[in-house]
Amino acid sequence: MSGVVLVVEDDRELREVVRRYLERAGHTVHTTGSGAEALSLLEDGGFGLVVLDLGLPDVDGREVLAAARQGREVPVVVLTARSQVEDRIDGLRRGADDYVTKPFSPTELVLRVEAVLHRTQSTSGIAEPPVFGGGRLRIDETRHEAHLDGLALELTPTEWGLLTVLASSPGRVYSRYELVNRVRGYEFAGYERTIDSHVKNLRHKLGDNGGAIVETVLGAGYRLGWSRDR
Ligand code: CA
Repeated sequence: MSGVVLVVEDDRELREVVRRYLERAGHTVHTTGSGAEALSLLEDGGFGLVVLDLGLPDVDGREVLAAARQGREVPVVVLTARSQVEDRIDGLRRGADDYVTKPFSPTELVLRVEAVLHRTQSTSGIAEPPVFGGGRLRIDETRHEAHLDGLALELTPTEWGLLTVLASSPGRVYSRYELVNRVRGYEFAGYERTIDSHVKNLRHKLGDNGGAIVETVLGAGYRLGWSRDR
């Protein structure tokens, strides 16, 4: 229910301590010491929360923070060595949900993480997967499952990517170029037109409703035609 926690911390020892404590508290944890890797992981999605060290060697931590807040708005608990009050306020203003100043107790961090998860899940409904089209289409990103009229859809990674990107903002039109970039399937290799054949296959799997769920907007691209119920 909580999704995977992404821990971004370049200090290997600290990273492992944080992982151990979060796992012991029952969370699934993915770690990286690289800001660049964190950016690409966030683009792929599926994280319920990010624990982020602001002082990374390769990328400004604030850039990773901004990336987490984009789109699906993954909550972020910032780890910072900068104890000045101004930095804390600055970090929170940029969208962190909470912060912990180093050195910190891992137990305290776990409590902060759980408080943020509790808060964001109860206010934004992340705990309940989104449903579209009057209860007919259900997309559960944490479980990586989509159901149409109660039946599980067997989707390729590219089709899954297309559906979740379109569903992240129902009614919004995505150009082929944007879809290629958001889905990042290696087989696209920059060819926007290959999107069309993936859309065709996805529609086929969606059956009679395929064209209504994944709508073509002539001269512009595609959009999710069904609205979100909750
Ligand atoms: Ca660091």
